[in-house]
Amino acid sequence: MNLRNNPRRIERAQQKIDAGIVSAHFPGVASIVISMMYNQRGISKSVPRVVNFFPSSYAFFRVDCLSKNCDDGGFDLTQVITTMINNRRGTEKGELSCGSTGSCDDQSAITYKVAIQYT
Ligand SMILES: [Zn+2]
Repeated sequence: MNLRNNPRRIERAQQKIDAGIVSAHFPGVASIVISMMYNQRGISKSVPRVVNFFPSSYAFFRVDCLSKNCDDGGFDLTQVITTMINNRRGTEKGELSCGSTGSCDDQSAITYKVAIQYT
């Protein structure tokens, strides 16, 4: 991956590093699986996506928005996952809209399911 010409990517990479490692923040967690359906206005077919986290993964639970014209958007599951772990919940479902602070032309949204396994 070429990071050199893309400041946003560099920033995102730094954010991941700053987020630290899953096992450091959440020692009792064995794995986290985020399954989501990505919905975009004007596109009837949802795009499925699965993201896996392990104890050695970065504790960065923000998923990029797939919209081409999205300005700094994404879906931040940090709050959802932190709350789940604090309550030792196994699964949680919900919906999130793109958290763009600027414009997200496609008004993207996801429906997600988070599954967490504990050690
Ligand atoms: Zn977006």
